[in-house]
Amino acid sequence: MRVLVTGGAGYIGSHVVKELGRAGHDVLAYDDLSTGNPWAVLSGRLVVGDLADQGLLEKTFAEFAPQAVMHFAASIVVHESVSDPVKYYLNNTANTFGLLKMMREKNVGLLVFSSTAGVYGVPSGGIANEDSQLCPVNPYGTSKLMSEWAMRDLSLAVPGFRYVALRYFNVAGADPSSRIGEAQKEATHLVTRAVKAAKGEFDRLDIFGTDYPTPDGTCVRDYIHVDDLANAHILALDYLVSGGRSDVFNCGYGHGFSVREVVAASRRVTGVEFKVVEARRRFGDPPVLVAGNRKIRDILKWTPEFDDIDYIIKTAWDWELKLDLIRSRHAGN
Ligand code: UDP
Repeated sequence: MRVLVTGGAGYIGSHVVKELGRAGHDVLAYDDLSTGNPWAVLSGRLVVGDLADQGLLEKTFAEFAPQAVMHFAASIVVHESVSDPVKYYLNNTANTFGLLKMMREKNVGLLVFSSTAGVYGVPSGGIANEDSQLCPVNPYGTSKLMSEWAMRDLSLAVPGFRYVALRYFNVAGADPSSRIGEAQKEATHLVTRAVKAAKGEFDRLDIFGTDYPTPDGTCVRDYIHVDDLANAHILALDYLVSGGRSDVFNCGYGHGFSVREVVAASRRVTGVEFKVVEARRRFGDPPVLVAGNRKIRDILKWTPEFDDIDYIIKTAWDWELKLDLIRSRHAGN
């Protein structure tokens, strides 16, 4: 199929582009390169552009004639969304509206959307199922939830339009052959920061809060390898192509690790006893956030391959060690 992938040069989008290529699809990545990199697009072609540019989007739809869209392009830094909510409502919500408008005008009926566990906010008991209360606690989560609602309403209004929204938990790790991985200039996620601390890029790793109501006092998250997540997208596309109805699915392994456990695993895997400082809580962090994943296993038949925190960290570490070389090789291109 011809699949248009917004944000295809970014961290998760590029892993999905790789898997789409492997599955034999014809891919066009559409990315403004604000956080993505052209070298990360391992399959198909890249159009560099802003999703808000309806003229370029229309031209791209007309020329490529996609049969399905996967939509990743978004701003994703939670604390930034609190200080600059309008950026998130424009980049995430308004641009999704624009994309839906284009899909409708061009009669493109299948969409796989990159959503977030942030739509649940602070789920009671720490485990979120798809039918748990939706109560985001920051503009990032709200921007994604509003996007989900818009596609839900479109699917009710237009019989030819169907979508799957995948709600990601904590995505980490990298391509096992270290060709792509997380390459944002400002790393905020725990696993990436831990391997950067091991590499010496930071002089220490802060643990944000040690007084949470969890077994060791630090937050518990459901870390999922990016290639398992990419595979969920391929299954979601297959599901829609074979007539599946619009739906939402959690993407997580169904169990979590505390920050201290991730730190210990990162030291073990890298062999570096990097410095760790116990710091204050970060605003808005739920103590526990773990996916209920029965639904995606049952309906999409998703079977994770990389449910192993050491392996996740190992792929992030291998990638981190290669990243500077890749950056310098592509500098000036
Ligand atoms: N965290 C931390 N130190 C860091 C980065 C993150 O202690 O340098 C904690 C953070 O407070 C949260 C967990 O690690 O409890 C996962 O955070 P991350 O930013 O990776 O993902 P989030 O759960 O916010 O989507």
